[in-house]
Amino acid sequence: MLLRNCRFIITQNQKREILENKDILIENGKVMEIGNVTEMGNNLSKKDEFIDCSDKIIIPGLINCHTHAAMNLLRGVSDDKNLQEWLNEDIWPRETKINGEFCYQGTLLAAGEMLLTGTTCFNDMYFHIGDVARAADKSGMRCFLGQVMFDFFDGEKTKKIIEDSESEIKKIIDLKNERINPTVTPHSVETCSDELLIQSRDLANKYNLLLHMHLSETEKEVTDCLKNRGKRPLILLDDLGLLKNKFIGAHGIHFNQEEINLLNQNKFFIIYNPCSNAKLASGICPAWELKSLCIGTDSVASNNNLNLFEEMKFGVLLQRVKYNDVSAMSTQRIFDSATIEGARALGIENDVGSIEIGKKADLGLIDKDNIFLNPNHNIISNLVYSFNGAVSDVIVEGEFAVRNKEIVNFDLEELIEKVEKFREIL
Ligand SMILES: [Zn+2]
Repeated sequence: MLLRNCRFIITQNQKREILENKDILIENGKVMEIGNVTEMGNNLSKKDEFIDCSDKIIIPGLINCHTHAAMNLLRGVSDDKNLQEWLNEDIWPRETKINGEFCYQGTLLAAGEMLLTGTTCFNDMYFHIGDVARAADKSGMRCFLGQVMFDFFDGEKTKKIIEDSESEIKKIIDLKNERINPTVTPHSVETCSDELLIQSRDLANKYNLLLHMHLSETEKEVTDCLKNRGKRPLILLDDLGLLKNKFIGAHGIHFNQEEINLLNQNKFFIIYNPCSNAKLASGICPAWELKSLCIGTDSVASNNNLNLFEEMKFGVLLQRVKYNDVSAMSTQRIFDSATIEGARALGIENDVGSIEIGKKADLGLIDKDNIFLNPNHNIISNLVYSFNGAVSDVIVEGEFAVRNKEIVNFDLEELIEKVEKFREIL
């Protein structure tokens, strides 16, 4: 496939170059060449599909580092409660009714929403991840999936929870789909005993997997942890050896200076979830002070969408309010958090996150003439602060997943009809 004469290519390479009027040659799912067609004549075969991109802006596919995709079916069920009330009164009672079909259809709906707003990869934590994986596979997206684990400090449950998670991990490994990767996902220190956290660590070590959990999301989580375990959540995880693994923490709002120093010394990634955190009145992540930062939406039940362009804008604005400083969080850095830094957080920076020769072709195509992108004084500024997210096309590993604003791999209208039926059981 040849993306011919791309008006702008936002490479997100080391120099953060923005190329103009260049071609991108894609073969076997990878970017093989970036340049001018005449210079790469030798690489062109008759089979190559030529796509005129003279009116397109090409961006790396965005990476959503914290989702509960199937919860797309819970959009709008609870809008005005804090995290504890929201979970206890409105979310967990509904989640007792969900099944594999719910998770499949909900994830497919989420995938549609992510793809139509330029996201090509997501990092998910939920139930029935075998069904989540099926939906991700169908959509064509890249993803990281973990079976959410909590024992609510009931030691009798711990062993079985770990066994279930391991069996889900094996199922995903057996899929042999390189786009779908297992992770280990203990829910949070609020819901997991020390033993479950330790066994999660060992499970992640055993398969060399990423550990993904909620961390210091609310003030209550920190005060409860201090009261019951004598330590703040991050220090507890450090003492239990979880931070020695590949670790990624969602939210990361309530840190003291010692914890921020620990995070920055060790380069653990924190996933900034500005919209969800603001909506649940959980607080504001000290994102500006953190060296390793990626971004996520959290679930639609607390966001209430998965549009990373909206998340980036809100992410900058919240930092400016938190620090009362216009230099808090640059436009480029928030764009990095949704692209190359997101890839780094998931350990796939050699494959995706930027448009460079040899990397996988995970790309978003945007109409240059989109009303929100004109006039074009500063393209990154327009993308972060103004663009509505309506990309025209999405390519994942060299294959179209969105073509001319239509989902390629499933029928969205049919899906919307199907998911409406779930309202009756929720
Ligand atoms: Zn979450």
